[in-house]
Amino acid sequence: MTDLEHARQCLQAAHHVAVMTGAGISAESGIPTFRAAQTGHWARFKPEDLASPQAYWRDPETVWAWYAGRCREVRAAAPNPGHLALAALERRKRKAETDDAETGSFLLATQNVDGLHQRAGSRRLVELHGNLTRARCERCSVRQPLTETEPFTPPHCPACGAKMRPDVVWFGENLPPLALAQAEAAFAPAQVTLVIGTSSVVEPAASLALLTLDNGGTVIEINPEPTPLTPLASFSLPMSASRALPALLEGWQ
Ligand SMILES: [Zn+2]
Repeated sequence: MTDLEHARQCLQAAHHVAVMTGAGISAESGIPTFRAAQTGHWARFKPEDLASPQAYWRDPETVWAWYAGRCREVRAAAPNPGHLALAALERRKRKAETDDAETGSFLLATQNVDGLHQRAGSRRLVELHGNLTRARCERCSVRQPLTETEPFTPPHCPACGAKMRPDVVWFGENLPPLALAQAEAAFAPAQVTLVIGTSSVVEPAASLALLTLDNGGTVIEINPEPTPLTPLASFSLPMSASRALPALLEGWQ
């Protein structure tokens, strides 16, 4: 039996599934990484000059202009077969609205900020680094989606009138504690965890997968390149997400 066949069997049999995705799956939809997007006018900036609380206090217009460009790229992109396969996996594993031991559980934690998982139909989703198509109030934390026609002058909060910022985690900021706690609660008891398109160097991808392994679960890594997780994973499939994920779901009853 090949690794792919063996991994497919484990995934099909599991009632509790957790998934982590990173930049690799978005790259297949044409979304450049932060650094790859820094071309032309933006090449002269250091990343922390565009994506840190200090940069935003200093010059909110420049930060919003950068995110306006990222937002346009995201809107021009579409979910790929990897995103769609994860939404299909959730529908198969989640037999009820509430997760429990009998009905199974599913959670997708993503490091991506592009919202492509929602657009593909994923619902049990934790965005560890936020979402750049939303704004968040600096004062009261109200969130709202950015409209298509947003001028990208810093928007003002509909509730309290304070300035809003991109709803993303910046350099020097902590991950949202609630999102991280939700992810840990899903990865620790998972029978199968998928780690997709992430270098597994950036936390918390590595530590979440280790939680699954420590509890006797199976970790399936999907990444064309080897990563620090590769020697530890139960199965490592050196494939793109858009090929591996549909192949893992192939032939299920
Ligand atoms: Zn507010």
